[in-house]
Amino acid sequence: MSGIDDLPALRDVIASHGLSARKALGQNFLLDLNLTAKIARAAGDLSGCDVLEVGPGPGGLTRGLLAEGARRVLAIEKDARCLPALEEIAAAYPGRLEVINADALALDWSAHLTPPVKVVSNLPYNVGTELLIRWLTPPAWPPVWQSLTLMFQREVADRIVATPGSKTYGRLAILAQWRSDARIALTLPPEAFTPPPKVHSAVVHFTALPSPRFPADQAVLERVVAKAFNQRRKMLRAALKGLAPDIEDRILAAGLKPTDRAEQISIEGFCALARAVAG
Ligand code: SAM
Repeated sequence: MSGIDDLPALRDVIASHGLSARKALGQNFLLDLNLTAKIARAAGDLSGCDVLEVGPGPGGLTRGLLAEGARRVLAIEKDARCLPALEEIAAAYPGRLEVINADALALDWSAHLTPPVKVVSNLPYNVGTELLIRWLTPPAWPPVWQSLTLMFQREVADRIVATPGSKTYGRLAILAQWRSDARIALTLPPEAFTPPPKVHSAVVHFTALPSPRFPADQAVLERVVAKAFNQRRKMLRAALKGLAPDIEDRILAAGLKPTDRAEQISIEGFCALARAVAG
């Protein structure tokens, strides 16, 4: 028994189902159920919420989410070897856990969940950033999800919460902070995982804003930001060349200087620039 529920300890689950970790699937498992319950609590009150979990693996975080009171959990797992272990959890929490054996990048999960929806996942590192960008760029805002509570490599977490002027400030910080409040909720050393990854990890909590912080067209903002950061330390005038023939005038119209560099410009500044480029 495990402390948070009546199911076997995760080490025994992994041994009995032969779940040796596969690097290609980004498998670094959390075996401490007190820790997975803590991560679930970082998502706030889960009662009355449907939760999307990508990559439940042997189910440590899934059990944390259910024990912490999630109304329902939809767990999407690519590795079919994990399904029998997840079925045992579903049986212990009747009607509250649905497991889909699929690639989370290829599945439209929204039809399976009823709002309010929170996303809580210890993401596979190889697809974590891609999933985050998709969740931050849905066809319409506000998104289906109310909050995201996601484990990343510490370096990615730092890029998400970075502020202008810092070395890690760039596309990810602008995209995340334009549309959400993002903060690091928890940091974890490699030893928290089995097998331990090479780097530290961090859980980032994002709360969706009702509308973006500053007005801008998403596609134009993304284009401007991508170009501005394409060659770091280049002045805006040179970095944005080709976006419009009168780009210097547009930079000035946005209240910026052609000699400014991308890493100094606030999200408000980039939104003004996107509006000036679009207009
Ligand atoms: N949630 C478990 C935990 O905390 O111990 C496992 C986390 S492990 C870092 C990532 C999980 O995502 C693995 O179980 C892996 O098989 C799964 N996975 C990897 N790529 C996936 C994908 N494209 N779609 C769904 N699951 C995926």
